Amino acid sequence: MPTESTFLFAGLLFLAAALGYVFARYGDSDDEDDPGESARANFVRGFRHLLDEEPDQAVEVFTNSGDINEEGLDTQIAVGGLFRRRGEVDRAIRMHQNLLDRPGVSRSQRDKARFALAEDYFSAGLFDRAEDLYLQLREAGEYRVAAIRRLLRICEVTAEWDRAVDFCGELLRIESGSVVPAQLAHYYCELAEHAREKGEWHEAYRLVEQAEVVEPGKLRCTLIRGDLAADQGQAAAAAAAYAEIARAFPAMLGDVLPRLLRTIPESGLEPLLNEVTDTPEGLRGIALAVIRDPRIVHPAAIDCLGRFIEQQPILRDLAGAGVPVSASPDARREAIGRVRKALHQLARSGTSYQCADCGYYSSSLQWQCPGCRAWDTVRAADRLLFKGSPV
Ligand SMILES: [Zn+2]
Repeated sequence: MPTESTFLFAGLLFLAAALGYVFARYGDSDDEDDPGESARANFVRGFRHLLDEEPDQAVEVFTNSGDINEEGLDTQIAVGGLFRRRGEVDRAIRMHQNLLDRPGVSRSQRDKARFALAEDYFSAGLFDRAEDLYLQLREAGEYRVAAIRRLLRICEVTAEWDRAVDFCGELLRIESGSVVPAQLAHYYCELAEHAREKGEWHEAYRLVEQAEVVEPGKLRCTLIRGDLAADQGQAAAAAAAYAEIARAFPAMLGDVLPRLLRTIPESGLEPLLNEVTDTPEGLRGIALAVIRDPRIVHPAAIDCLGRFIEQQPILRDLAGAGVPVSASPDARREAIGRVRKALHQLARSGTSYQCADCGYYSSSLQWQCPGCRAWDTVRAADRLLFKGSPV
């Protein structure tokens, strides 16, 4: 991961290259009244202040420089971006606001400065100010698509899912295929879950259907359908939805198993568990779910953990310690319970799920990674993480 000094060094190199370009354009005139010579002198002074770690003086020089051309503006935006990446957002804002306020700046130059300023506010978490600027840029010009994408990010942070759907529509009208189906489908799912919370079943089903049109076979839609059925006391329909997920996505068993146990009839549970645990992933999924969630007490699920332990030499020895081979099923179940309790206490909290993209750990299922903001990348961690070393 790049460090702050890496950014500084790379930024100064970039700046030096830009300055060289500016000098080449201005020539070598010694005339102090020459505007090109004056701009050159200002850039050199500002650059020296940066090298001397005098950022405030550098900002002062840059913002007080006279007329600047396209290259000069690019350089100042780059310097401002450098401040932003170093976390010095106030300085970045001063630089970019100054450029935006300058008279005689062309439309495209103004848009460039406006986008840079919006990025400053966005990175500082000042979303209302950033949003105002992105909304201006969204109307037309080079930054139209980038601005709408940023507005989408703001909607995600502020949970304005209706607006997010509208912005997706706008992006798709500009360029078909510019929105990943999973992203738009999740926005509909968010709206569906919101409708479900308010007991608006019909609306919730309608939104789930919308999501499925955008992304057929979406796992989250099946889960919401199951939850909607369970909310309305339709246990068979709920269990059918959960069973579908358990079969197709064993990694989801940690979330689905408790729901399944609440809705499936006794006669249907054992055949389903036998079917799911036919694969190593299924058996492991149920075992991890039982270890992590002490609320799962159903004997058939505990038996699955017992079968898993049997397959793991270390766990088998641990469970077998002090339990004779001729021990009764009750004694064996007690031994399984001891191992379960020990593993549950050892498992590090907050590590049940992990983002496949950035590695971010979380304690609950997140459809959008809180770390990298990607959708559908958080999965149940396929191992327990114990304090000290990963197992
Ligand atoms: Zn991530």
